[in-house]
Amino acid sequence: MEIKWLGHAAFELSTSKGKVLIDPFLTNNPMAPVKAEDLKEVKVIVVTHDHFDHLGDAVDIAKRTGAKVVAVPELASSLSGVDTVAINMGSYVEVEGVRVALVQAFHTCSRGFPAGCIVNDGFVTVYHAGDTSLFGDMKLIGEVYRPDVALLPIGGYYTMGPKEAAVAVSLIKPKVVIPMHYATFPVLVKSPDEFLEEVKKRAPEVKAVVLKPGEVYQLP
Ligand code: ZN
Repeated sequence: MEIKWLGHAAFELSTSKGKVLIDPFLTNNPMAPVKAEDLKEVKVIVVTHDHFDHLGDAVDIAKRTGAKVVAVPELASSLSGVDTVAINMGSYVEVEGVRVALVQAFHTCSRGFPAGCIVNDGFVTVYHAGDTSLFGDMKLIGEVYRPDVALLPIGGYYTMGPKEAAVAVSLIKPKVVIPMHYATFPVLVKSPDEFLEEVKKRAPEVKAVVLKPGEVYQLP
């Protein structure tokens, strides 16, 4: 699997089953390395919650590509003109050959509840935490889903900051962690440096990979 950071909380996963987007916020995202219309052949789009910087261009991309949009029922039912999969937090559901689960996130939103997501293509498991504070059951998410890669917000203000995110890494115990949701807006933490230091202290066995927007991490 290849994991491309599209800036902020947006990721493109090139899986063995096709392309999966998570929180594709590109239009008006100052960190976005591509335009929404550049994204083609998308199979699945997971939207963790309805804030503009997560729902983003999901509807436009889904209309153009025919991608299925996975979101909690209250959010899914508000999206018109797209094919949705209205699952709730709980367990894996197969969507276009990829297994997707929504899991808890502690945050706010207007439609339904905010979530994190797990994506598994039969080879690799990715945990995208959405927007969230630190919570103890991240340990359980780590034990149950055994993510190879965790994508965690570190920017503070709306989510965990660098220290909380490093504690999250020590609970989840992924093989690799990729920080996200920082530096996009002025109120957010500007660099991943403190996060990297804290991970070294709290979870030295976990490899922290910092991507530039547009950069790809290829899983071995
Ligand atoms: Zn949010």
